[in-house]
Amino acid sequence: MRSVENDLKHIVSFSGGKDSTAMLLLLLEQNKPIDEVVFFDAGSWDFPEMRHHIDKVEKYTGVKITRLQAQKSFDYWMFEHLVENGKNKGRVGYGFPGVKLRWCTREKIRTINNYMSNNYKTISTYIGYAFDEQWRANKNKDKSNIYPLIESEISENQALAMCYNYGFTWDGLYEHFRRVSCWCCPLQQISELRKLYNLYPDLWKKLEDMQKRTNSYFRMDGKRVEDLTKRFEAEKLQISLFNNDEAYTQCGIMKT
Ligand code: SF4
Repeated sequence: MRSVENDLKHIVSFSGGKDSTAMLLLLLEQNKPIDEVVFFDAGSWDFPEMRHHIDKVEKYTGVKITRLQAQKSFDYWMFEHLVENGKNKGRVGYGFPGVKLRWCTREKIRTINNYMSNNYKTISTYIGYAFDEQWRANKNKDKSNIYPLIESEISENQALAMCYNYGFTWDGLYEHFRRVSCWCCPLQQISELRKLYNLYPDLWKKLEDMQKRTNSYFRMDGKRVEDLTKRFEAEKLQISLFNNDEAYTQCGIMKT
């Protein structure tokens, strides 16, 4: 562990998505002070395209991106961790994260906070909330945060356009998804999961394999991954029967 730095340091909170990527590019354009760029590495839960994107940003900007990994992987918490307290005492593995038991976010925050307190005394963090997400900044009480996209009035769409202009495409992820964090997130919209099923069959197969290893429900409404597989398969059949072009596009189904 390196010694704790006393001076105020400027840290870029970098998720790798369009907003934080646009923010980093903007900060570099504006010559703002940057001491470290920090990315939480969710391991096999990150889209492979995201890992490629991080390498590409690092190469293009010449700025080193610190990849933080939790002490134990998300797979460990999901399948192996022995719960020792509370109403789930004795259970092995938390199962899929949910709104009430969002253990993945807890691990992510813990990892980042530990890293910061072990390395810095005073930090100011750049956060990539877009201009049309000001409510998120208003909710955050930490006065040391800086919101460059809000200050420059850059919306989510403009952030994406800016990234595309610089040549960052995430190998097409944003053509299909609104959010590109963990591909297996149970909290994402059904429309996004439908696209995962139709366009990323290898990842969907992995999701089915994850479900086989846990009794927990995938979705808050009690649905398991195989329920969604059946639903999407039936929808696909229906769409092909009616040969509706718009439905093909919305579901991300390749017309054959
Ligand atoms: S994207 Fe979903 S699965 Fe990933 S850390 Fe966030 S809540 Fe958890």
